[in-house]
Amino acid sequence: MIPYGRQHITQADIDAVIHVLQSDFLTQGPKVPLFEQAVADKVGAKYAVAVNSGTSALHIACLALGLGPGDILWTSPVTFVASANCALYCGASVDFVDIDPDTYTMCHHALEEKLKQAEQENRLPKIVIPVHMCGRPCRMAAIHELSQKYGFKIIEDACHALGGQYKGKPIGSCQYSDITVFSFHPVKLITTGEGGTAVTNDTKLADRLFRFRSHGITSDRDQMAPRPADEIWNYQQIFLGYNYRMTDIQAALGISQLEKLDAFIDRRRELARRYGRILAHLPVTLPLQDPDGESAWHLYVIRLKLAQTGKSQQRVFADLRENGIGVNLHYIPVHLQPWYRALGFAPGQFPEAEQYYKEAVTLPLFYAMTEQDQDYVAASLQDVI
Ligand SMILES: *Cc1c(COP(=O)(O)O)cnc(C)c1O
Repeated sequence: MIPYGRQHITQADIDAVIHVLQSDFLTQGPKVPLFEQAVADKVGAKYAVAVNSGTSALHIACLALGLGPGDILWTSPVTFVASANCALYCGASVDFVDIDPDTYTMCHHALEEKLKQAEQENRLPKIVIPVHMCGRPCRMAAIHELSQKYGFKIIEDACHALGGQYKGKPIGSCQYSDITVFSFHPVKLITTGEGGTAVTNDTKLADRLFRFRSHGITSDRDQMAPRPADEIWNYQQIFLGYNYRMTDIQAALGISQLEKLDAFIDRRRELARRYGRILAHLPVTLPLQDPDGESAWHLYVIRLKLAQTGKSQQRVFADLRENGIGVNLHYIPVHLQPWYRALGFAPGQFPEAEQYYKEAVTLPLFYAMTEQDQDYVAASLQDVI
């Protein structure tokens, strides 16, 4: 089976992990801050806070921005459930903004319309989470402009987008957001096994992120809450935080993986361009490349032109899998998940997301994929549709 995505682990990665296992520190030792610095440098942010998953990073990002009961968070319905669940963890409520049918990311026109209405109803969101779906950057400048007008905070969910660029700057530079979040799950751009990070340029937010990661306890790195004069060290629990720490084992793997990020992205881009050429004649819609951004190409999603294919999406999936191609579907729109339906969401609320869901197919794309693999995928797709 050719998988839709997979990690790429080298001997250097293995050696880096073994080195930690032979050292004094397994969990947060010297590797975690080194990894944080390397990530911050790579994405052009001042601070990076490493945690045990992208989901934890989203959770502490919401907490750092003060999200709580009575507050509202908006995100895209076409994303992994964690982008919405993070609001529920904080006791806030969630709503969605429909996608742009060409980019599959949050539509800024739909966002503006919804904001106008929410303002009249006095139900404006405190936080909006645009998701860089497939690695393609959202129209952040437009979303940022709306945040200035309507007073919401922005967390970029960049779990698909490490190594991508927007308006000439790396995603994660937070030029148009308060915090950006990445995941290092094995299918993502680089991996630490499980892992994630929240990056920001804001010193206060960074302090809060560090504390929420580790039980809400201050530390000597804290800039906003210095050591009380009558204490030996800075160790005050001032929030209710969590244990979301990354281990040194993971951080060492992350440092080693990060060195390969550029090569990973170059290869993905090359394969994506090649897909563009070899699939051009088929009745499918290929991913759009926004002139403002460079995708990190986490996923290669095509849309079937069902009227021309004469085969259901379900049939296309089954036939491709029968041919040994591990196609996948990203994603069932979050509002259609049983948990969210139980909260009151229903089909028909976000028609562009629902139409996308009926047509989308994620084709294999990963660093070690060969051109023969790719030709086989293209030939099978042609056969099947
Ligand atoms: C993977 C992913 C997450 C969650 O990351 P984990 O590291 O798996 O917790 C959140 N949002 C999106 C868009 C993702 O793809």
